[in-house]
Amino acid sequence: MSVIDGKAFAADVRARVAEGVAAVKAKGITPGLAVVLVGEDPASEVYVRNKGIQTREAGMASFEHKLDATTPEADLLALIEKLNNDPAVHGILVQLPLPGHMDADKVINTINPAKDVDGFHISNVGLLATGQKSMVPCTPLGCLMMLRDKLGNLSGLNAVVVGRSNIVGKPMAQLLLGDSCTVTIAHSRTKDLAEVCRGADILVAAVGRPRMIPGDWVKPGATVIDVGINRIEDGGRTRLVGDVDYDSAAAVAGAITPVPGGVGPMTIACLLANTLTACCRANGLPEPQ
Ligand code: NDP
Repeated sequence: MSVIDGKAFAADVRARVAEGVAAVKAKGITPGLAVVLVGEDPASEVYVRNKGIQTREAGMASFEHKLDATTPEADLLALIEKLNNDPAVHGILVQLPLPGHMDADKVINTINPAKDVDGFHISNVGLLATGQKSMVPCTPLGCLMMLRDKLGNLSGLNAVVVGRSNIVGKPMAQLLLGDSCTVTIAHSRTKDLAEVCRGADILVAAVGRPRMIPGDWVKPGATVIDVGINRIEDGGRTRLVGDVDYDSAAAVAGAITPVPGGVGPMTIACLLANTLTACCRANGLPEPQ
């Protein structure tokens, strides 16, 4: 069994992005990422801070916009339009979740698709589904990169994705289909989930339920990608666990991502990679590989 070291993998991706950024800067262009945070959700504040730090570390410009939780939706839409028209901004990310009075779909679909580095705009979703060049959502992109690195060619493998959200499960399934896997998408209404999971050569868990998937749902030798990030109380302390019961799954899997240190670090690394890609496309430069 091997542990897939997402932290090390993400560091490699960030180093490659930094090289690409330096090459673009040599041509007089600085890639720029704008992150918009509405409200004061503590987890979102941590993500946004980390995104800013890593963006600057990669040599890019970071533009951070913090809006009050009571900001009218029209003001947020006006800010997005301003960023859409700002040539120094190549990527725009609106941190989710948004306050209840805002329509997240409307907000996301106001972002210029070419700057939609999260890949959530309806145009990018359609491009991905039809196998065309798009902006690919960061978390599933990071998972795919780790899978390709671990397994090489994914063609013909049985992949089971547990979870069908727009931000993880569905785009993950599209990417695996794009790599010619035989894909099953499971969710809360799936019958006999254990048996479905046992058929997976690649098992991706994106549910949001701590340690829901035990080792006896894992096919011996399977590659397990655990997207879940769940906070649990353990001996008076809070700690993070995935959707997979790590110890029992690691005993049967061929390879597995830990939580923390697996998928999580890859998400921001892929965000930086997408921003560099958006910058290159906007300026007619060759895209980074
Ligand atoms: P959502 O809550 O949007 O989706 C959860 C999915 O899991 C739904 O499709 C739901 O099914 C399914 N589900 C819920 N309960 C069960 C069950 N008992 N059996 C089978 N399926 C079930 O979550 P997200 O996709 O946004 O996130 C999933 C997890 O990934 C979370 O822990 C989140 O924190 C984490 N995450 C991690 C990221 C990272 O960077 N590593 C990035 C994004 C998310 P149904 O549709 O039927 O309700």
